Amino acid sequence: MRTVITGGTVVNATGPVDADVLIEGERIEALAGRGSATAQAFVAGADRVIDATGKYVIPGGIDGHTHMEMPFGGTFSVDTFETGTRAAAFGGTTTIVDFAIQTRGASLREGLETWHAKAQGHCAIDYGFHMIVSDVNESSLKEMDGLVDDGVSSFKLFMAYPGVFYSTDGEILQAMQQAAGNGATIMMHAENGIAIDVLVAQALARGHGDPKYHGFTRPSILEGEATHRAIQLARVAGAPVYFVHLSAEEALAEVAEARDRGQSVFAETCPQYLFLSDEDLAREGFEGAKYVCSPPLRPRRHQADLWRGLRTDDLSVVSTDHCPFCFKEHKELGIGNFSKIPNGLPGVEHRVDLIFQGVRGGEISLGRWVEIVATTPAKMFGLFPRKGEVAPGADADVVVYDPHGTHTLSAATHHMNVDYSAYEGMDVTGKVSTVLSRGTVVVDGDEYVGTTGHGRFVSRGLNGLLR
Ligand SMILES: [Zn+2]
Repeated sequence: MRTVITGGTVVNATGPVDADVLIEGERIEALAGRGSATAQAFVAGADRVIDATGKYVIPGGIDGHTHMEMPFGGTFSVDTFETGTRAAAFGGTTTIVDFAIQTRGASLREGLETWHAKAQGHCAIDYGFHMIVSDVNESSLKEMDGLVDDGVSSFKLFMAYPGVFYSTDGEILQAMQQAAGNGATIMMHAENGIAIDVLVAQALARGHGDPKYHGFTRPSILEGEATHRAIQLARVAGAPVYFVHLSAEEALAEVAEARDRGQSVFAETCPQYLFLSDEDLAREGFEGAKYVCSPPLRPRRHQADLWRGLRTDDLSVVSTDHCPFCFKEHKELGIGNFSKIPNGLPGVEHRVDLIFQGVRGGEISLGRWVEIVATTPAKMFGLFPRKGEVAPGADADVVVYDPHGTHTLSAATHHMNVDYSAYEGMDVTGKVSTVLSRGTVVVDGDEYVGTTGHGRFVSRGLNGLLR
């Protein structure tokens, strides 16, 4: 099957170029300047021609932080691998890296096998796994090496959630030492969970149960403090560290300082920290529960710092932390007690569009948009050059994107399996037209034309930014 995408502007991290793209089977075969004899030959020999006139042709998005079917308090996040990856495809994302979870007392391998069973045969697009280590001990440390060999090259630890995922500083140091030896990247949820639990108990004791207290009890200072501490531990271990869902100026300052020193410190932020704020958490009645995630949405002043971080590369990735819970039944578990509200927002479908608003608003360049939603995640998570670039030899994960298309984000029209939108009523300019996953069209306009189970597990290499 020879497919040609013609008439479009290819946008890679390096910027835009007017070129036609020849796809042979599952791979990108070649690019040729628009209107050139080579491009005309592409079209003449094609089985299928996709007209991208007036549109961008970008590498499929890579969302390095999702939680499909994640167990939480007797329930699960509501997107399955089937519904969640389909929604991702609608939004121009062609690879997710989800988090497999080690339960306490079980091995890493058991957790990984559980997640393989959830995903295999159900995904619309390709997928990989990070591993959450919630029980650092001699055997799980040793197991990390084997997982790296099997394409799971990043491990997440938590400085938050005592009694659940929390690891002590000593445990974190040991995991980092193991990563220093096997080349893995340690991912960190940096919030001081011990101090936060004290603040939460104090707030509840005073009768402060509304959703907004979720934010007040997780101050940005405690994200900055944990970020500082993790950086020092990584420095001692000689291991790279990647901060997930960085939300606060205090944390960003720590990352910037470490990077200036030359330490291998990386960070992602998420669209919710760029577009939403503590004002949403404080919405009337129980509405704020829709916006409960951790770290919490911050005061609006942090947003300009985060955009600056994206420009300076102190923030090098935007992921979603997609972890949807329905407002009815799930979020409602926390009426009167914010600490019982399931943590997480839906977002896997909207990342590419939302970050494109930053291009329109002059916050970032066109190339930088592609870099932070596709190219750098591919490099960071060991998927490059197979994914993350429109280039010969790469998987034909390609999105035709209409920069002038408009739509309104809403639960009435989104494809995520959740009963509300965190961005309800928001008008965006920029819209996915066509999505190809390994050469197969999976989204055509507003239609899903893919198949369940098309998506394959991708075995990931080591962090490509370290070599
Ligand atoms: Zn997460």
